[in-house]
Amino acid sequence: MAASLLSVVGRFAPSPTGNMHSGSLVAAMASWLDVRAHRGRWLVRIEDLDGPREVRGSADDIVATLAAYGFRWNGAVVRQSARDALYRHALEQLEARGLIFPCNCTRREVEQASLAPERLFDDAVAVVYPGTCREGLRAGPAGQAARAWRVRVPDRVVSFQDRAAGLVTQNLAREVGDFVVKRADGLWAYQLAVVVDDADQGVTDLVRGADLLDSTPRQRWLQEMLGLPMPRTLHVPLVVDAHGAKLAKRNGAMPLDRERPLPALHEAARHLGLTIEHSGSVEQFWERATQAWAERWSLRLDDSGRVE
Ligand code: GLU
Repeated sequence: MAASLLSVVGRFAPSPTGNMHSGSLVAAMASWLDVRAHRGRWLVRIEDLDGPREVRGSADDIVATLAAYGFRWNGAVVRQSARDALYRHALEQLEARGLIFPCNCTRREVEQASLAPERLFDDAVAVVYPGTCREGLRAGPAGQAARAWRVRVPDRVVSFQDRAAGLVTQNLAREVGDFVVKRADGLWAYQLAVVVDDADQGVTDLVRGADLLDSTPRQRWLQEMLGLPMPRTLHVPLVVDAHGAKLAKRNGAMPLDRERPLPALHEAARHLGLTIEHSGSVEQFWERATQAWAERWSLRLDDSGRVE
């Protein structure tokens, strides 16, 4: 038992769409505490595939803020933008198995034909792809040009145990539909890149915000199709604004103060349900928070701080 627990690998995978704020601090903290409680390895990966949404300088800000807040990671920070060949290889594997098809629907067309529009976090609308191009591209004004590549999903339930949410089930065909793995603008879709990277980097444990719980069945389906291991997951509560929307720079999230880490660290720990006495230093905070995390998630640490 101990051997497998000792080889836990976690990661923080921020998109560089704004400076680090209290919401991203919570996600980073949860993942690092889980790794620390397991004496595992922690990686930082910048998910910078979406060039148009990237905010210049934010990747550097995130890394500098993590360092100032006392986070320590193993190895160099990885950037998805440098890993094109890995994603292409995965797409080829899916293609070889006949699992992907080109689609020339516009976003609007998909939304209008959607089988079950449903509201998600942050007012995003979940749109179920109705299968329009599944059997071949449509002719018409849009021409035959493929816009995106989608992966076929089966009409069966994907289920898994999340460490926080418990049993999660989703019927991909009915609740999501065939989903995009390469976008109409030529960029790799998050769902594909994330499973390729997590497997390539040996990630065993995903600890991240609850907004991604809904993406996990898609990721598990891709992992199954690509023959990749399936990490355990723990989705932690999101930090939301007064309207219940996920905190982000665009709805007023304040950048973190690099000179005064302790107040924000304590606030993030509280958000994660951890009760910690006031700490005199960042090091002391991390020691106490790691103990509190181990208790919160019933991980037993022995005298050396290792998980038993
Ligand atoms: N890059 C994603 C985000 O910033 C997180 C990806 C993940 O943790 O799987 O929301």
